Amino acid sequence: MIVTITMNPAVDISYPLTEFKVDTFNRCDIARKTAGGKGLNVSRVLHQLDDPLVAAGLVGGALGEFIKENLAAAGMRFAFSEISEATRNCVAILHDGKQTEILESGPTVSESELVTFYQALNDLFKEATVISISGSLPKGAPTDFYNQVLDLAKLKQIPVVLDTSGDSLLAAVQHDNKPFLNKPNAEEVAGLLGISEIKNVTELKTSLQSELLCDIPVIVVSLSSDGALVKAEEKIYKVDIPKIEVTNPVGSGDATVAGLVSGIYRGQPLTDYLKKAMVLGMLNAQEETTGHVNLAHYDDFYRQIRVYEV
Ligand code: ADP
Repeated sequence: MIVTITMNPAVDISYPLTEFKVDTFNRCDIARKTAGGKGLNVSRVLHQLDDPLVAAGLVGGALGEFIKENLAAAGMRFAFSEISEATRNCVAILHDGKQTEILESGPTVSESELVTFYQALNDLFKEATVISISGSLPKGAPTDFYNQVLDLAKLKQIPVVLDTSGDSLLAAVQHDNKPFLNKPNAEEVAGLLGISEIKNVTELKTSLQSELLCDIPVIVVSLSSDGALVKAEEKIYKVDIPKIEVTNPVGSGDATVAGLVSGIYRGQPLTDYLKKAMVLGMLNAQEETTGHVNLAHYDDFYRQIRVYEV
């Protein structure tokens, strides 16, 4: 089975408004509330693909309970560790075709809560064949906490798909035990290499050949509507995708990660799981709800994707 890790989940609240008025009240008839956080978006897409998964992470308080109820109602398996501080809310106000977000930083975790979580992962990994780590670390966790997870995975010979950013990503790529696959976007690659911006695919290709990234077997840099650039098997591949109508691309990176994890879990060849990942990203971008895909268009998109060496 697949173990997904979400260290700082959230209850995502979205308020669709016809108009957003500042410095006064805004009434909202429909408020959507779902279990969120990047790793849980990955989990929801994996669940729609019928891949067996357990969602692990840290939850606390009433919002932690909400997350568990929300996943249970969807028929998903989870094994969260409880923490004393409360899980956060993240609010998205949808107005005039725009999205204004308020993201709480979330709870602070204690050292003993992290130890308990690590022990829980140790048990879960006995059954795991792929591990997916997504998102930021909560306050209180050391920057290199994911490195401890990489060590545990290495001990059990389980491949890890990592999608994080900033200091925890830098710590992981510098660690002896690397993730099997990393899925940054171009901005995250630039941040990692300490450069202000990567302007085009040629510059990105050069960046991927940097020594810092050389020992990670597969790096999939997602490029939004431009598909992806991939480093694997000592080669660089461009993945082209067709133009599509987009409704809400938030969470497309997570749907892409779900495709990569699913493909690795099923032992698919690289080209097949890259296509799968792109299709799922595109399908997520066509939906209003983050982490939801309509698989009816899967085959049509899949046929239109090209993977070629550059
Ligand atoms: P992230 O959210 O991590 O930055 P991206 O925005 O690169 O991820 O999206 C991941 C994938 O989702 C892309 O590689 C692509 O397959 C699909 N996708 C995202 N946005 C669009 C878009 N506007 N049009 C078509 N596909 C998209």
